[in-house]
Amino acid sequence: MDEVANFKVRVHGGARRITLRIDREGAAIFTVPPQYDRSQLEALFVEQRTWVEQQRRLQAQVSARGRELPLLLDLRAVSTHFNVIYRDDGSTQPRIRQGDAHTVVLCGDLERLGDPSRLLCEWLKRYARSELTRLVERRSSEVNLYPRGVSVRSQRTRWGSCSSSGRLSLNMRLLFLPVHLAELVIDHELCHLVHMNHSAAFWDLLELVHPQARLETKELKRVSDLVPAWIR
Ligand SMILES: [Zn+2]
Repeated sequence: MDEVANFKVRVHGGARRITLRIDREGAAIFTVPPQYDRSQLEALFVEQRTWVEQQRRLQAQVSARGRELPLLLDLRAVSTHFNVIYRDDGSTQPRIRQGDAHTVVLCGDLERLGDPSRLLCEWLKRYARSELTRLVERRSSEVNLYPRGVSVRSQRTRWGSCSSSGRLSLNMRLLFLPVHLAELVIDHELCHLVHMNHSAAFWDLLELVHPQARLETKELKRVSDLVPAWIR
């Protein structure tokens, strides 16, 4: 990365256009395609100065609030991540929306935003509903056990449950677990469609569809710190 005037330039082979962003330290970074003529950047930077200053102020507020404002959703269970971007558009009504494939944008007056985790959790729950349902469908066809339906909740104490009517309830926190553990929880609940208990027969079935089940059940007890503290 080169230091040029008040901004840095990063050349990225995959970049199709020029982007400008402010990192956590307040540095302005241009990402440019390899053949880009850099002599234009200075003028472009001057043009964007107001935006840059606004973003720097915002970034300083975000840093000051530290852990309170999440910057990354690392959703291991579905092998993806989202950067959380805070955009101060002056509006008094904070909103959340998905930007590109890996970005969630929280808009609104940051001063009045209060605790952003409520909005983020609402977004995450909607996302979990579609993604975890998809994961259940995949596991169902793999193990040949089909629930009556799937609901997604936010529970503090359990990863999932299976009702006597054959409905699965999954915790949206599963998104933060490694794939094999999210699948373990789903397989466990699917096996309850056959055995509504933790009998030897239940474990036999679970180990049949998920050979590492016993080992991974122990692992599951040690991974709760993968779930961010702000999830509720
Ligand atoms: Zn169980």
